[in-house]
Amino acid sequence: MKLDIDSIKKGDKNTLDLNFALDLNTIDYYGDIIDIISPVDVNGKLYVIDDRLYMNLGIKTHMQVNCSRCLESFTYPFKSSINAEFVHENLSTDQTDESDEDIIYYQESTIDLDELIKENIIMNIPMKLVCDKSCQGLCSNCGIKLKDKSCDCSHTQSIDEDIDPRLAKLKELLEQD
Ligand SMILES: [Zn+2]
Ligand SMILES: [Zn+2]
Repeated sequence: MKLDIDSIKKGDKNTLDLNFALDLNTIDYYGDIIDIISPVDVNGKLYVIDDRLYMNLGIKTHMQVNCSRCLESFTYPFKSSINAEFVHENLSTDQTDESDEDIIYYQESTIDLDELIKENIIMNIPMKLVCDKSCQGLCSNCGIKLKDKSCDCSHTQSIDEDIDPRLAKLKELLEQD
């Protein structure tokens, strides 16, 4: 969806509802392709207040990701929001307002809302996604998946102290020979 800032500002409406679904299918998360398995649910409003344009947006979807402890795939319910003011780039210097809102600078008078939403999703995907708070992950010694079985290694590592799943996976692979 594209927003025409000028015509929204000049329009006679002070608020504009934004309710739509955005089909993304996948998202490129710093080189990792993450599957988006439900349309992105976008709900919010644009506000024109004294020739200034604000947007409050709620974003919801589901993504298929891998647990960073046990590496198993699971569905992660994603939620984020955008609360921002749109400010033209040329006006950026005299923007000294104290407010809780973020500022989205724009150059053209049209804004690609889909692109903004995509960026917001990428920024808000947690670094570590865990299938379950109590997920024990892989044994840091033998690499076994502690959800399914237990091993004879001594487990000195606490759950909070995340093991590096790449290392564990490597270990698992090495021990298959
Ligand atoms: Zn897990
Ligand atoms: Zn073990």
